[in-house]
Amino acid sequence: MTDWKPRTKAVHSGIRRSGYGEVSEAIFLTQGFVYDTAEAARERFEQPGDDEFIYARYGNPTVAMFQDRIAALEGAEAAFATASGMAAVNGALMSMLKAGDHVVSARALFGSCLYILEDILTRFGVEVTFVDGTDLDQWRAAIRPDTRAVFMETVSNPTLEVIDLRAVAGLAHEVGALVVADNVFATPVFSRAFEMGADVVIYSATKHIDGQGRALGGVILGSEAFIRKTVEPYMKHTGGAMSPFTAWIMLKGLETLDLRVKAQSATAARLAHALRGHARLSRVIFPGLEDHPQHTLAAAQMSGPGTMLALDLHGGQEAAFRFLDALGIVTISNNLGDAKSIATHPATTTHQRLTPETRAALGIGPGMVRLSVGLEDADDLLDDLSQALDRA
Ligand SMILES: *Cc1c(COP(=O)(O)O)cnc(C)c1O
Repeated sequence: MTDWKPRTKAVHSGIRRSGYGEVSEAIFLTQGFVYDTAEAARERFEQPGDDEFIYARYGNPTVAMFQDRIAALEGAEAAFATASGMAAVNGALMSMLKAGDHVVSARALFGSCLYILEDILTRFGVEVTFVDGTDLDQWRAAIRPDTRAVFMETVSNPTLEVIDLRAVAGLAHEVGALVVADNVFATPVFSRAFEMGADVVIYSATKHIDGQGRALGGVILGSEAFIRKTVEPYMKHTGGAMSPFTAWIMLKGLETLDLRVKAQSATAARLAHALRGHARLSRVIFPGLEDHPQHTLAAAQMSGPGTMLALDLHGGQEAAFRFLDALGIVTISNNLGDAKSIATHPATTTHQRLTPETRAALGIGPGMVRLSVGLEDADDLLDDLSQALDRA
């Protein structure tokens, strides 16, 4: 099974068939499990056996199938599935850190990730140093002998900065710090984050893994010891578990993940090349374009450029809004990785909470539009984007 290629793992890994021999994974919509005897209950609470369950907050057969499948796909020893991507980020960091610990984090983060690092962790006495994630000298200067963890989005939201995971991991490991990578934009299809040195990998399964806008979910992947001894006790007592129904959606999402992400990425590349140099745009940001600041790194670190683009329109917010309102196929929303192409205005939505100065420092201007490229026909998308740019 470990020899299987990713697409085989994505379809077959982790299956637990019930006595009925069903083909498609069963949804075990049960919160609890019965014991034949009082003694059996006592034993299971003392030490659950392999594939024995107690309560769905701790684990559930459908959730376990999803965990085993994504762990196999990522080459991780273990996984814990969570109610959302943010439950995964929070669970990974809160379970491992304590007052007095030091964390170094890239500054270019999804708003809620920034909130956990900047507002929550610091409230509990964790010291956090933010760096420009693309500048290795800043990582080198910030990482100290007492640094317990480094955190980054391997490809940042929405500016698509690519972080040199191997180099940052090298610096972190010199002082024994754990490398925690939010790998959502890089996707499980294009990134081998563990091979690059990540110790803990986090996904919002809401994004490409579901990929059809149906359910919130997340996952923390890592070593058996980290997941079982650090993450699991924290998660099972604080209640951030994934629901069995969501796990079933995510299992089905994994089956088609490779096909969807590769198709979406090919369309994203086509759009990026076609729109580059457009008179209404000051910039097209896409890791697959030669003028992307980390183009070479992205090509070395990822087997594909991803499904996300950022467009910077001349004319600021008014132009961006006119463009968004003129779109016919592409929807205005804030999910990403979806089958439906989605456009977002980060400055007034996902990154509204930041001050204009912070946004400017992160390169999120008023004319920036984030585009998540879906599964529609590339020609239709190009027509739609072109006519909307004409009206911007
Ligand atoms: C969406 C997202 C999250 C949060 O995931 P949810 O499932 O919405 O909680 C975390 N990190 C990144 C990079 C994201 O894009």
